[in-house]
Amino acid sequence: MIDCAIVGGGPAGLGAALVLGRAGRSVALIDDNRPRNGVTRSSHGFLTRDGVRPDEFRRIAYEEVLKYPSVEHWQEAAVDIYKQEGGFGVITQTGEQVQAKKLIIAAGLKEIFPEIKGLQDFYGKSLFNCPYCDGWEWRDQPIFLLSEDPSIFHMAKLLYHWSQDLIVCTNGKSVLSTENQKVLESKNIRIIETPVVAFEGQNGMLEQVILEDGRRIERSGGFVIPKWEAKVDFLKQLEYAQTEFGGIATDAMGRSTVAGLYAAGDTAYVRPSQLIYAAADGHKVGIAVNTDLTEEAFA
Ligand SMILES: Cc1cc2nc3c(=O)[nH]c(=O)nc-3n(C[C@H](O)[C@H](O)[C@H](O)COP(=O)(O)OP(=O)(O)OC[C@H]3O[C@@H](n4cnc5c(N)ncnc54)[C@H](O)[C@@H]3O)c2cc1C
Repeated sequence: MIDCAIVGGGPAGLGAALVLGRAGRSVALIDDNRPRNGVTRSSHGFLTRDGVRPDEFRRIAYEEVLKYPSVEHWQEAAVDIYKQEGGFGVITQTGEQVQAKKLIIAAGLKEIFPEIKGLQDFYGKSLFNCPYCDGWEWRDQPIFLLSEDPSIFHMAKLLYHWSQDLIVCTNGKSVLSTENQKVLESKNIRIIETPVVAFEGQNGMLEQVILEDGRRIERSGGFVIPKWEAKVDFLKQLEYAQTEFGGIATDAMGRSTVAGLYAAGDTAYVRPSQLIYAAADGHKVGIAVNTDLTEEAFA
């Protein structure tokens, strides 16, 4: 039985693997290479790597982590997990099994968008979800914000800081109170409640937003806020306390309510959802696993 299996090799899983590799712990890093930010051309805000391509970030990270000989990289999906004496068993899509004393889940989030034609062609190129990741590149541009959630009010105020040429759309939902609308309108932010039916443009660059009533609005980019769900379909056999997004609730060190099960990064709903936070969270959870293994060895 190895020391630790990590499901998910984004910045959270890699951060944990690096700590555990440097502690000489035997680790299986199981990852199917479908990171949430795979749609983007560049990632921002990670010190020393601002503007890096996501695949380049991963290449460097894997190169660093796999220098440590006790870390093994399994390039496939985990499909099922069961509890067993002394730890956990992980079953992969090819039917292989890994038995580990500890298990870290760092599998990220699923994004659920409203059904709008063309949205996926622009997402990650001229439509984004986070102003700290991509606001700078769209400063002073004619931008669009679409969200069906009441947090649209806060997001609109935030985006206004980057561009005052801002149109806000609730996609047919009544999520802005009259008072909120007045606040936004006082800054000349236009509010649209009509649903959007399509995004149009070329090569991933947005040109027009098409509304249900046929109106066309010229915009060069913007932000679309999805709903989030934790990627934990393969964890059905374990009963752990959940976060509000169905992720794994943890204590401050990433320990779940199931002994030996930990979560890091987006799966543990670490906020803000940024690469540097996910990497730091993974690092912290790696330390928690090593601490627990050490204490158990002396118990
Ligand atoms: C469009 C977009 C742009 C972004 N831009 C930025 C930016 O500029 N700067 C920034 O800091 N953040 C950015 N982010 C946010 C950033 O991507 C996340 O904060 C970060 O990726 C979270 O890291 P994570 O390790 O928790 O999850 P992820 O990076 O999503 O990694 C999860 C990993 O787990 C794997 N996995 C999932 N399920 C399984 C399974 N069953 N078996 C095996 N492997 C599995 C996935 O393939 C993936 O590799 C952006 C996000 C998006 C969507």
